[in-house]
Parts: sequence; C-alpha cells; structure tokens
Amino acid sequence: MRNRRAALAAIAGAASLALTLSACGQDSEGGSEEGSGSTKGATIGISMPTKSSERWIADGKNVVADLESKGYKTKLVYGEDDPDQQVSQIENMITQGVKALIIAAIDNKSMNNVLQQAKDADIPVISYDRLILGTENVDYYASFDNEKVGELQATYMVEKLGLKDGSKKGPFNIELFAGSNDDNNTRYFFGGAMNVLQPYIDKKQLVVKSGQTELNQVTTLRWDGGTAQKRMDDILTSAYKSDRVDAVLSPYDGISIGILSALKSDDYGSKSKPLPIVTGQDAEVASVKSIIADEQSMTVYKDTRELAKVASSMVDAVLNDKKPETNDTKTYDNGAKVVPAYLLDPVAVDKANYQSVVVDSGYIKESDLK
Ligand code: BGC
Repeated sequence: MRNRRAALAAIAGAASLALTLSACGQDSEGGSEEGSGSTKGATIGISMPTKSSERWIADGKNVVADLESKGYKTKLVYGEDDPDQQVSQIENMITQGVKALIIAAIDNKSMNNVLQQAKDADIPVISYDRLILGTENVDYYASFDNEKVGELQATYMVEKLGLKDGSKKGPFNIELFAGSNDDNNTRYFFGGAMNVLQPYIDKKQLVVKSGQTELNQVTTLRWDGGTAQKRMDDILTSAYKSDRVDAVLSPYDGISIGILSALKSDDYGSKSKPLPIVTGQDAEVASVKSIIADEQSMTVYKDTRELAKVASSMVDAVLNDKKPETNDTKTYDNGAKVVPAYLLDPVAVDKANYQSVVVDSGYIKESDLK
C-alpha cells in the first residue's frame, strides 16, 4: 500500500508539473492545439454541487478558465445541494447540446438515468472530485488521494497527542465526525482516518465516550456545519458531564467551524478548558484564520487549481480521441466498473506551514487572512 502511494505521489507530482507547464503555455504545441481541432468552440457542461462552500466556487471558476484557455465554451451550473435540481440541470445541458460533462455529484447514486441520456447522446462524462456510483457511464475520475486525506487528519491527532512517538500513553477522549453519507469520498476519508486511529482505540489509548464509532453513526448530511454543531452539542451534554474531549476528527472545514462553535459554547477555549485538537479539510479562508487564531488545529489542503487542470485536460483528450493521463486504474470501483482515475496529493496544513503552503502558492491571498 505504502509503495503504491509513494509511486502514485511521484507520478502525480511529475504529471501535475507537466500540466502546470502546459497551462503556462510552455508546451504550446501539445497544449493549446489540442482543443483547436474539430472540437474548437464546443461547449462543455460543468455541474458543481453548491456555492455554500468556497472551494466549489473556486473549482467552477478554475475549470471554466482552463477549458476556455483550450478553446472551449462552457456552461457552469450549481445544484445548491439539491440532487434533483442537479439532475435536471444536467438534463438541460444535454438538451442544449454540450459535448462533454464534468460533474461533482451531490448524491453519487442519483445519476443513473441522466448519465444514460448522456451516453445515448455520445457525451463523455468526467466524475469530478466525487466518484459517481452505480453506472457504467462515467468515463474518467479526477480527484485526490481521498484515503490519504483521512490518514493525514488522524496522523496529525496522534502525533499532537504524543501517542505516535510514545511520549504519552493516554487515555485521551476523542469524538468522530464524517461527511455526507451520499458522497462516496466520505467512506474513503473516514476509512483512512480509522486505519490510523483504530489501533489506539483497540488499546484504549483513545476512548470515544459517545460510543459512536461506526460510519453510519457519525455522518453529517450534506456536510452541513450546523448539523455537526448540534451533534457536538448533544455529545458534550450526554457524554462529557465531568470529562473533557481531547480531540475531534472533522472531515471538512465547514464542519470544523460548527464543532468549534459547540465547544466554545461549552466554555472550551478558556484557560481552564483548552480546545481539543480539531482537524479539517479544504483550507477555506475561515478555517485558516481559525488555525492562525489557535482554534482549529489543522486542515488538509487540496490544490483545486490542479484538479481543474486535470479534469479539463481529460475532456480535451477524450474529445480529441486521445487517452487521458491516469495514475490509478484499480482503486475506484463504482459498483458498475473500475473508473480510471487521476489522483492528486493532499497536504496537511497547520499554523507552522500555512504560509508556505497556501499563501506563498497563491491559493489564498495574505490580505484575505487579515
Ligand atoms: C470534497 C471535500 C469537501 C467536501 C464538502 C468532498 O466531496 O472532497 O474537499 O470538503 O466534499 O464540500
């Protein structure tokens, strides 16, 4: 597993460099001419899940910019976390004659019928970030190493608690949160985290006082921060009357902010009651600010600019009868087929490295963090 990861990371690094170079125009022969054949001017449909989270707004903008730089027109729609609305938006785009679709699904199992319509109209489909399940009509998958996201979050926790190097033995109290149960990434994030945490739970060095350790007990529908806040409130009231929680696994920054609100309402963050370690994902501005303010502990940065490049290069290749570059043809079985994937590498970010990783790379402007 480790070796596969290392190899994947190396390939991902090399390929993302190649993508970066071609996007900078230094590979103009291959890069810019690809979209200039019979597909020039074709419209590509892009369906994103929600504007309620910064990352998806950036994803939409970046995919549009990359496709336009390759000579395509685009149509970008947001489903606002409503699976039916997303499906009917995609139906409309098919009727309007888009030549390819890039989809980040809200409910990964809701796409069978609409993707059959896409297939019948000979429209290739790229599953963006989240794998669409249960249909053969998904051509390629562009994402990050999702299991590694969870591993990074959990490894950060056991390191900071002193369990990893054995300097502390515990027991420490931990609570677990996962993402939306209709998002395929959720089980990969949670699975990756539990690979790291379970041995410590088994040895009772980590204790989940709520008793809620199964994925179906800890999911958060539509990744909603308010839902997570309420669940954290309930857990604090029922399981932490006299004890303190030392760490909370959170899969996404919006959920982390909700969890932190519940903790602060229960007096955590005061001198006598320090905040627990709280993880996150996406390096959203509010959470990077929270990290700087010593509230949220870490986040997992995924450079969505690179993801947009991967997805638009896949579209460009498919429409020009070329084989898109992939670096994983085994992991992502959607129930109907194993979808060939290109996975990018996620990076753990905390107060010590946020400047070099997210600011110096231009992902977040320094001024936005003031
Ligand atoms: C994405 C995460 C994001 C979450 C909530 C997941 O599918 O992979 O980056 O935090 O959705 O939007």
